[in-house]
Amino acid sequence: MKTTVVALANQKGGVGKTTTAINFSACLAEKRKKVLLIDLDPQANATSGLGLEKGFGASVFPALLGETDCSTLIKETGIKNLDIIPSELDLAGAEIAIARMDDYLQRLKLAIAPVIESDVYDYIILDCPPSLGILFMNALNIADEVIIPLQCEYLALEGLGVMVDIVNQIRDAGNPKLHISGILMTMYNVSTNLSQQVVQEVVKHFGDRVFETLIPRNVRLSEAPSYGKPVTDYDPHCVGAAAYRNLAKEFIKRRKPDAEPSAEALPTV
Ligand code: ADP
Ligand code: MG
Repeated sequence: MKTTVVALANQKGGVGKTTTAINFSACLAEKRKKVLLIDLDPQANATSGLGLEKGFGASVFPALLGETDCSTLIKETGIKNLDIIPSELDLAGAEIAIARMDDYLQRLKLAIAPVIESDVYDYIILDCPPSLGILFMNALNIADEVIIPLQCEYLALEGLGVMVDIVNQIRDAGNPKLHISGILMTMYNVSTNLSQQVVQEVVKHFGDRVFETLIPRNVRLSEAPSYGKPVTDYDPHCVGAAAYRNLAKEFIKRRKPDAEPSAEALPTV
């Protein structure tokens, strides 16, 4: 078994990174994959969305500083096969603290290398903050692949070119395995033409890298975090749960050895 590290990234906030981090992780876990979700956003929405309290000094911060072994920071979520390294607001200070270190872009890589080497997890999912800052760069330096959630709204593609450029730069600068494995269209509204038009536009640029699975706008997805549960626990039969289950299925299917994703540069948008 080899651990695959997947970063959920988009510098825009409110596009569905955290909702995807929680529910995609839970659906992979449901498929008997061992998953570790690392909450890299100081806002800690993935942490609270999985029912863990914020503010108990529990985040990846001490491991970034090299003070703690990352494996001691792992917490159970109560969901079979799904563990988490939570976040808290203090993580905002991590960027400043590690910025002084020579290897400040490699701190997460150093911190989680032992967890990767232990081969306990099939997937490590990184919920990235909505910025192109140091934590984000650290995430891309350890990731094998990036999933970019895009909201099905006007100007969905805006700013995406910058993301694609950064992924390409980090790949060229020392993480050759890094690639964008998928663009995930979120908050799809079945009752408007706009959502459909946005998906068509994104497919025009990214072709089959766009997941066939569309995540619908579904109120159950926005309610579940306040109950500290993934949607598959909160309302297992809602359309949101079905969509994230489909995503996990499509993601795993795409990974079959004969469907190895290529590391070619993506078109600039
Ligand atoms: P990000 O992590 O990119 O900032 P979030 O996942 O936190 O985005 O989503 C932003 C807001 O939109 C949250 O309030 C979340 O509950 C809501 N949301 C996300 N995806 C959906 C969806 N498919 N349907 C309805 N609400 C959603
Ligand atoms: Mg978020």
